[in-house]
Amino acid sequence: MLLDLHNHTRYSPDSRVDPAALVGVARKARLAGIAITDHNSVGGIAAAEAAADPDFLVIPAIEVSTKSGHVLGYGIREVIPRNLSVSDTAERILTLGGVPVAAHPFRFWSGLGPTAVLEARFPAYETCNGRTLRRGNIRARALARERKLGETGGSDSHFLDEVAKAVTVVDAGATTYFSCSPRAGHRRRGGIAAPRRPSGTCPRPLVSGSSAGCEGSRSQVFLDPRDVLLDGGLGLL
Ligand SMILES: [Zn+2]
Ligand SMILES: [Zn+2]
Repeated sequence: MLLDLHNHTRYSPDSRVDPAALVGVARKARLAGIAITDHNSVGGIAAAEAAADPDFLVIPAIEVSTKSGHVLGYGIREVIPRNLSVSDTAERILTLGGVPVAAHPFRFWSGLGPTAVLEARFPAYETCNGRTLRRGNIRARALARERKLGETGGSDSHFLDEVAKAVTVVDAGATTYFSCSPRAGHRRRGGIAAPRRPSGTCPRPLVSGSSAGCEGSRSQVFLDPRDVLLDGGLGLL
């Protein structure tokens, strides 16, 4: 199934999107779910959840402005203070039971950049961000692979017509990768990669990332869809 793991609503200062309308557009795009990742706010989550049918997943989340750039926190319903260090922010997300992910790490200004991204032990980087230049996504993917981390994809939508520009593929049967063009509706599947199982007790490959214009991308699992689907939250492996 396809999830867009990065979306803003009118609870972000730079978006006017209604959370319920966002859910409607995402459904039309045939996504199975979306994450609500407003800037330093969790205000849009409840309205999105209220608008969603039981079979459509709304993942509570936040995009926190740290001292060094943006950090996504999945499974979060509380505001995390802005302007903390990267490591303190990631720690707070973990303490709340969430999953910290470095948002568009190589985007100019708002990305963490090559030094700060190493200041916390992120389980994954966002390697497919719909508003990041292709080379920024490629750099993020290269670093995620080098460090054997997971990857996520999301449109970073601030307008309704941006929803689903980039997605994360969740597949309980095999790890797949996904290439997406700049426009929704022109996505194409890149192919199937060999399932990669993390060492330990994980019984099956879980989640793969996606990458904008990143043909040949291979993604690594980091989230358990059973947690996503059964508990309504996200769990670390
Ligand atoms: Zn951002
Ligand atoms: Zn964003």
